[in-house]
Amino acid sequence: MFIEPSLSSRRQSERKGQIEVICGSMFSGKTEELIRRLTRAKLAKLKVEIFKPSIDKRYHDSDVVSHNENTIRSTPVHFAGDILLLTGDCDVVGIDETQFFDEEIVRVVQLLANQGKRVILAGLDMDFEGKPFEPMPRLMAIAEYVTKVHAICMKCGDLAAFSLRLSAAREKVVLGEKESYEARCRKCFLDDKK
Ligand code: ZN
Repeated sequence: MFIEPSLSSRRQSERKGQIEVICGSMFSGKTEELIRRLTRAKLAKLKVEIFKPSIDKRYHDSDVVSHNENTIRSTPVHFAGDILLLTGDCDVVGIDETQFFDEEIVRVVQLLANQGKRVILAGLDMDFEGKPFEPMPRLMAIAEYVTKVHAICMKCGDLAAFSLRLSAAREKVVLGEKESYEARCRKCFLDDKK
């Protein structure tokens, strides 16, 4: 379980800022963990803003919605640079589905952290072929804290780090619904990946 360093007692201008990455496969609880951290930051009376790429229209347009329907209000943005214009004086910036931003997000996240903000990013670390999903690897490299969360393999019940696409679609961005993806451990992913 991630334990936050104390951030609430100092003014933002005196804070160092930091980057946290929450990564893992589909159904691994990334968004739930993001919401947990943001909710705790709110309880600490910190000003929180949440963003997601507007490409993700699976659920309601302006909510970060996790699969267990634990929701938190968010702002959809088209470009990573938009986040810089919208964060203002907030203390904590959450970003969901970070893998759908282009690599400009790396610069944006650095700038926000350098301003003294705590930046928490949730995203898929591998695509449906089990390859690193840019820009997540770059963000993991520059983060102070990286948390990898795991799903449960729907075939054997072990811990799962891979997202198996059940349909034959080949394009990288097919948004995840339970019908089109399942979590797999390494062995079951290799067995089932055709
Ligand atoms: Zn398995």
